[in-house]
Amino acid sequence: MIIILNSEISDTQLDALISHVEQAGMQTHLSKGTFRTIVGLIGDESKVSSDQLRTFPGVEDVVPVLPPYKLASLEAHPQPSIVNVAGVAVGGSNLAMIAGPCSVETEERMHSIARSIKAAGANILRGGAYKPRTSPYSFQGLGPEGLEFLRDAGREVGLPTVTEITDVRNIEITAEHADVLQVGARNMQNFVLLRELGRVKNPILLKRGMSATIEDLLMSAEYVLSQGNPDVILCERGIKGFDTITRNVYDVAAVPSVKTLSHLPIIVDPSHATGKPDLIPHCAYAGIAAGADGVHIEVHDCPQEAKSDGPQALLPEQYAEVMNQMRAVASVFNKSISESTGAIA
Ligand code: PEP
Ligand code: MN
Repeated sequence: MIIILNSEISDTQLDALISHVEQAGMQTHLSKGTFRTIVGLIGDESKVSSDQLRTFPGVEDVVPVLPPYKLASLEAHPQPSIVNVAGVAVGGSNLAMIAGPCSVETEERMHSIARSIKAAGANILRGGAYKPRTSPYSFQGLGPEGLEFLRDAGREVGLPTVTEITDVRNIEITAEHADVLQVGARNMQNFVLLRELGRVKNPILLKRGMSATIEDLLMSAEYVLSQGNPDVILCERGIKGFDTITRNVYDVAAVPSVKTLSHLPIIVDPSHATGKPDLIPHCAYAGIAAGADGVHIEVHDCPQEAKSDGPQALLPEQYAEVMNQMRAVASVFNKSISESTGAIA
């Protein structure tokens, strides 16, 4: 951490500042320039609060040198992490191809969509059993029954599953039924939930909040990592903007940005980012070209009957077409799309 002082700071004020820092157990290094004096802090930065330092008279700014997230940072782990989802590697040279309906609806539909996305080459099946809806009157998900339908459909086609967790009270049952637990955009900063998910064995798919910065996303990942769960997969799913042409603003630059800051794998979700089937294919290819470790796409066999996110769903045959193109784009970047080996990590 570096403290920048203003030119009017008195010796007494400087002494007070330095003794505050040294009493906290850190060393200081003073560097006096013609117009500015700066104090470098040496030692464990967590011992002092930058907000407290900013309140000292004569302090102009406090600049962190290290990122506030530690375990999520590249400094802590210079090699990219690979998360093992029941035999599917997320990260490294393999791409996670996650597909399925927004909500789990009926048993038959879950199985038939699972069969179609498996045939297209997806390697992880999705479906929401607990839905975080803007309106309390909208379909909230089938709950435990939905978890069973998803699990059985995944088993039938041999694909691991991912489903959203919205409430700490459902962690146990959800962790028993699904391989990956998804934290949706609306819960990205539900810190109580994140801490609890740090204590489960399942990998966590952490979606970026709609108004979250990349640093916010990495700080949320840090909550999970700090409790001992190393398996976090990040997801760029679009952020709020002013243009209504797309549902959200697809921040594809978040992908290479995260790669410069963190070892965690990151996938893209062009379905929620754009909200429009016509825009999904090229945004999916762009995600792979940007270095994403996977692509998450919602697929439904009859969008007219979908209980949520029907307007953005791809039909199974459209998904199969996009998968073919994604395979081609992946090969340009020396990535492949492996099938699940079914082996539990
Ligand atoms: C979803 O995956 O269906 C979902 C609700 O996503 P998000 O949290 O990104 O809106
Ligand atoms: Mn959805």
